[in-house]
Amino acid sequence: MRGRTEPRIATPPLVSGAPGPCGCGCALTPETSYGFAADTFAREILLAPLDPWERYVAIHGGELLPDGSPRFATVLVLVARQNGKTHLLVVLTLFWLFIERIELILGTSTKLDYAKESWLKAAKLARRIPELAAEIPSRGGIRKTNGEQEMVVSAEGDADDPDAVRYKIAASNNEGGRSLSVGRLILDELREHTDYSAWGGQRAHHVGGLGLPDLGAEQRWLGQVRGAQRPPQVGPGVHRDRRGRRRSGHL
Ligand SMILES: [Zn+2]
Repeated sequence: MRGRTEPRIATPPLVSGAPGPCGCGCALTPETSYGFAADTFAREILLAPLDPWERYVAIHGGELLPDGSPRFATVLVLVARQNGKTHLLVVLTLFWLFIERIELILGTSTKLDYAKESWLKAAKLARRIPELAAEIPSRGGIRKTNGEQEMVVSAEGDADDPDAVRYKIAASNNEGGRSLSVGRLILDELREHTDYSAWGGQRAHHVGGLGLPDLGAEQRWLGQVRGAQRPPQVGPGVHRDRRGRRRSGHL
């Protein structure tokens, strides 16, 4: 395999000390990043291991604060085409659903096809693994109505289980998206996101200075192909975290 594991520009972890199991020399450990567990989940449960750069991004983007919440409200991944960015986002989505039990994950895009592609990949991969498939209710577990795709995960295998968690997709101009309480927001193919006027309203905060919908999500993962013809207005800017502290969140 060729290429570099570590990105050219990335925000260093808050934790310092002796090098941990990441391998890049940083001090992150399974206690300070959920990325290690996501990497194990990909390898041992999904049987779809992460490439070294994807593992690095999962570990660094998955950094946790001492209270256990994600350090980064926004993680921006800029990577060359055909490098497995969608695979990384699919693995993380399934990890959030099946392991972390994040109540609602929303995949969105101005071009619904991008969000749909990731959703289909995630549903297909989960159904291939018996332990995971058992948690997708046979009735109402996968809803394929165009534009209203939804995958339900329930330990009881029951779509009406009050503890069930969901992965939905919605176009960014979808009115319905605004009323949802989103735990993780995934925006793949960021370069296509040029108009967010549809989001309007008080919940459409400027995320990381990008003018992207916030939706109150605890963490947003944005994927963009490097070298796109119409790059969005991004740079190594300073972000503020949910507590108002300055920090940047580029990987
Ligand atoms: Zn590291």
